[in-house]
Amino acid sequence: MSEILARHCFACGSSELETFWRVDSIPAHCVLLMRTRAEAIGYPRGDLELAHCRACGFVQNSRFRKEVHEYSPRCEESQAFSGTFNRFAKELATEYLQRYHPRSVLEIGCGKGDFLALICELGGCTGIGIDPGLQPERVRDAAGGRIRWIVDFYDERWSALSADLVLCRHTLEHIQDVAAFVSTVHRSAPRDARSVVAFELPDLERILVEGAFWDVYYEHCSYFTLGSLARLFRRCGFAVERLEKCFGDQYLLVDARVDGRARASTPLPAEDDLVRTAQQVDRFRRAAPAALAAWRAWFAEAAARGEKVVLWGSGSKAVAFLTTLGLGDEVACVTDVNPYRHGMFVPGSGHEIVPPAELTRVRPARVVAMNPIYLDEIRADLAALGLHPQLVALGHPSGPA
Ligand SMILES: [Zn+2]
Repeated sequence: MSEILARHCFACGSSELETFWRVDSIPAHCVLLMRTRAEAIGYPRGDLELAHCRACGFVQNSRFRKEVHEYSPRCEESQAFSGTFNRFAKELATEYLQRYHPRSVLEIGCGKGDFLALICELGGCTGIGIDPGLQPERVRDAAGGRIRWIVDFYDERWSALSADLVLCRHTLEHIQDVAAFVSTVHRSAPRDARSVVAFELPDLERILVEGAFWDVYYEHCSYFTLGSLARLFRRCGFAVERLEKCFGDQYLLVDARVDGRARASTPLPAEDDLVRTAQQVDRFRRAAPAALAAWRAWFAEAAARGEKVVLWGSGSKAVAFLTTLGLGDEVACVTDVNPYRHGMFVPGSGHEIVPPAELTRVRPARVVAMNPIYLDEIRADLAALGLHPQLVALGHPSGPA
């Protein structure tokens, strides 16, 4: 167990923190590729202690230690192998282009660069992508060489990088000192009134309401609602221009400008969620253990009937689901549409990741989809393989919780 426990909120500095969920000894990394089962099982672990800040509504893992964490090209977080996800990405990119007409785009934490390449291609923009997990040789350079790729962490050293549209997608939730990070982006963002900073990250509200213990994992040390996100941005000097949910209400979007003094102190109606978040934290305290119990019973029933279970999706949700439930032989294998994950092993549980075609050999009676948004796509993929197992999803009426 870690001896280091944060006693202040990383978003607002308050000490009004209240712990509401704890899971000890979970894999410190969920999307890192493991080449052997032994490596997957032996991967470093850390503790999770979720604390809610009553002052600003932010939720953090107060036991997070960034030194046990690793970001490198071995990270495989890309969702670009799913048609559902690619349609969402294209819609989002088109919307940014129509809304802001950027000539240049900087993406902080661009992952494998799929989204940046897409938006630069669609909009004819120049681009700069920075991420420690970039593999420049894998980047789809449809934008015709107009993108500069930087394999590094974004921090003060890179504050001279600038663009009309500064994107930061699915990165802030991995950062412990969120106020310092957003302040750095604010200091380096152009003062030009045209320029916009746009962040996208998971929504805490849904996790709390669903008791979604599978959406809470070590790499995500920071969790936001619309309100706590907007409060942080305004505290760091941004004017919040847009605040909404997307991707089946799973993600939050915040668009902000540096040059917006007139609106900087005016909260948007969607920010008024402090009381609701406190109630939802209480709900999670009851809902998460209930969801754990329901899934345990579901797996026990499958085992009693001799029915094979396969997980569809091998990313962070699968790691959290397998680890928190302590599942081993109850799951025959894990499948994924991302070919870069095939033959690798899930951190923590050590399950092998197989191509979907392999399921014709496994012949599962039950398949658990890690994200309900892919249910139709998965059902079609299974049918194409001649398989018609019981298909359920996490956080969906099809499942037990
Ligand atoms: Zn706070």
